This record gives sequence, structure tokens and C-alpha cells, in this order.
Amino acid sequence: MDCLFCKIVNNEIPSKKVYEDEHVVAFHDINPIAPVHVLMIPKKHISSLLAIAPEDKELIGHLHLALQNVAKTMDVKDSGFRVITNIGQHGQQTVFHLHYHLIGGKQLEWKM
Ligand code: 5GP
Repeated sequence: MDCLFCKIVNNEIPSKKVYEDEHVVAFHDINPIAPVHVLMIPKKHISSLLAIAPEDKELIGHLHLALQNVAKTMDVKDSGFRVITNIGQHGQQTVFHLHYHLIGGKQLEWKM
């Protein structure tokens, strides 16, 4: 399967990892839009939030707890941060492997 993030999972493409366990990996976005911009992904290939299946329930819960822990290590817990997952064309998803952007380290705007 020709998936960029699967290649990151398999270390075929280098990344700056900040967390990894059996099920998930978090790494710095290559093109950060804020001082803190980390991507958290499941190792299992799931194309987007729309493709999460009932059997992924435990994995997605695990991913959220790992994301919470990463946020704590990124020192954005007190100042606040944003978690985003883009889906499809209007969501401007560019990599079709489920990922959550953890963005923070500055005051974020909320404008379209
Ligand atoms: P999307 O637009 O699909 O929500 O987010 C994809 C993200 O992946 C973008 O923020 C982009 O900068 C990031 N990205 C794309 N290619 C790479 C890469 O090779 N390495 C890393 N670390 N991030 C990447």
C-alpha cells in the first residue's frame, strides 16, 4: 500500500517521533503551522475518521489517551491547544491515513 504515514510507521521514511507504542505513533509535522504541531496516528491503516470501524473502538480510545499524554509532554496543557482531524476534500485532508493534528504553543485563531 502506497501510504506516506504507513511508511513513517515502518521507518521507511524518517520522522521526528515524540511518542511510540505498539498501536500508535506521534511525530512532528514536517511543515508546522504553530510552535507545537504534532501528528498522532494509529499504526493500523485507517483512511480517515469516516473509516473507523466498531472493532477500532479500543484503538481510538488508546490513541486519545496517548494524545493526552503527548500534549502534557509538549507543555501546552496549561496554555491550551487544538486537536484537529481533516476529512476529505472540504476538510483539506492530504494524507489518507487517519491522523490528529495537535497544534499549540501560541494563541490560535478560529476563522474560516
Ligand atoms: P492533512 O492535510 O492530511 O490533514 O495533514 C497532513 C499533514 O502531514 C500536513 O500537515 C503535512 O505537513 C504533514 N506531512 C506531509 N508529509 C509529511 C512527511 O513526510 N513527514 C511529516 N512529518 N509530516 C508530513
